[in-house]
Amino acid sequence: MNQQDTPKVALVTGAGRGIGKAIAESLAAEGHTVVCVSKNPASCGGVAEAIVAAGGKAVAKAVDIADSAAVSAACAEILAQFGAVDILVNNAGITKDGLVMRMSDSDWDDVIRTNLSGAFHWVKGLVSPMTRKRWGRIVNISSVSGVQGNAGQANYSAAKAGLLGLTKALAREFAKRNITVNAVAPGFITTDMTAVLPEEVQQKIKTMIPLSRFGSPEEIAATVKFLCSESAGYITGQCFSVDGGMAM
Ligand code: NAP
Repeated sequence: MNQQDTPKVALVTGAGRGIGKAIAESLAAEGHTVVCVSKNPASCGGVAEAIVAAGGKAVAKAVDIADSAAVSAACAEILAQFGAVDILVNNAGITKDGLVMRMSDSDWDDVIRTNLSGAFHWVKGLVSPMTRKRWGRIVNISSVSGVQGNAGQANYSAAKAGLLGLTKALAREFAKRNITVNAVAPGFITTDMTAVLPEEVQQKIKTMIPLSRFGSPEEIAATVKFLCSESAGYITGQCFSVDGGMAM
């Protein structure tokens, strides 16, 4: 932990598995209290328990982030318990892939509501005390699909590109309150999300990645941890690609 870093309260969505779990663990290792959010109580509960068992501080909160009323109620409960959340990582996301001509309205809406509107609702619910403290970090997890676009992922690419616009707008809106807002755009990372890709598709994708391999959740968490630190206090409105060189 940087000498200047003091323990904070962090909230990570999608902390039950994959990238979000690695982010929650790395922020807990910095001494922060981590509110682990996921849809399934067992997944965020397991991660929070493991952090506590390892000597860290964490609580679990099961919330469907696609449900704006549920997010708003959860924010009120979390603020009643902790007073403020200092670090917000909007990581939870889903895919419902398909070519546009065959994409259902519900697959479009579900992905936008979860991946993009979800982030907006957490910011709206948590930012007020952050502005009063005049210190905050918000990190939105976008994707190489949002940076470059990806055929078969119009809904996901639009949501992830939307997160980049949201990041830049929020960075300008909250800069005077000393709140930084940045995005991280992972490439292909080894998690449940990419485990569904057939082996031959994974091999083909690796030929398109300059570093020739998928990344690990910990490699995304390392960048997020830095952006949430005191040392990153002069960085805002940026998108960091952590993608093995895909989006140069
Ligand atoms: P993952 O392994 O599928 O885990 C997703 C997490 O998000 C889970 O904890 C899940 O909760 C949670 N979640 C999904 N929908 C939710 C909802 N409606 N309400 C609350 N929680 C919800 O995904 P991942 O690969 O770690 O991806 C994390 C983020 O990185 C996503 O935004 C993804 O788009 C982005 N990303 C991933 C990759 C990649 O290659 N893996 C690449 C670029 C960007 P439960 O555990 O309860 O199901």
